Amino acid sequence: MITDRHGGQVPLGLDELRTLPGVGEYTAAAIASFAHRQRHAVLDTNVRRVLSRVIHGRAAAPSGLTVAERAAAAELLPADPEAAAQWSVAVMELGALVCTALAPSCEACPLSSVCRWRAAGYPAPEAPRRRRPAYEGTDRQCRGRLLAVVRESPHGVGRDALEAAWADVRQRERALDGLIADGLVQPLGDGRAALPGVATSRHLGQDA
Ligand code: SF4
Repeated sequence: MITDRHGGQVPLGLDELRTLPGVGEYTAAAIASFAHRQRHAVLDTNVRRVLSRVIHGRAAAPSGLTVAERAAAAELLPADPEAAAQWSVAVMELGALVCTALAPSCEACPLSSVCRWRAAGYPAPEAPRRRRPAYEGTDRQCRGRLLAVVRESPHGVGRDALEAAWADVRQRERALDGLIADGLVQPLGDGRAALPGVATSRHLGQDA
């Protein structure tokens, strides 16, 4: 995609980066910040853990990235883009090497005097609430829809049918990648997809 759509150059903007397959919020921010020296909060697991401990006094960040985390990280980011990129790397390294998940080295930590989790005596993390994940709108539902469409047509289905089955392009592509990787769907090389084996031979004209 970079070659075909961006003239061989890694895109500069977050939105363009996010359209690349496999590039999510974290990766897009990391590329924009570390490679292009832009000012973006880069929230990987290590950064989220450090900020959670220092700012919120909690042992660990919530399981999913929250609006509050994004806002807090953006507020802390230095105004100068170059300094912001360095800051992000520094916090990431601090989380990887000093403020580790299981054995933080607080004596060696430059944030020890302002760390709320340390000041509070290292309270244990709250037990996660068990919730049944909703099915509506999930990747699982998307996979099911796509697989049902492919199953209905032994000769393979075209891009239009797949798009009609699931509108969100990123989720659809992700689900298709997963189905292909799991051997449940076979790409026919022209934007169409089919069940493995049978459909391929039909597609190639080797089957009646
Ligand atoms: S003082 Fe300890 S818990 Fe707090 S940020 Fe530093 S290493 Fe992590």
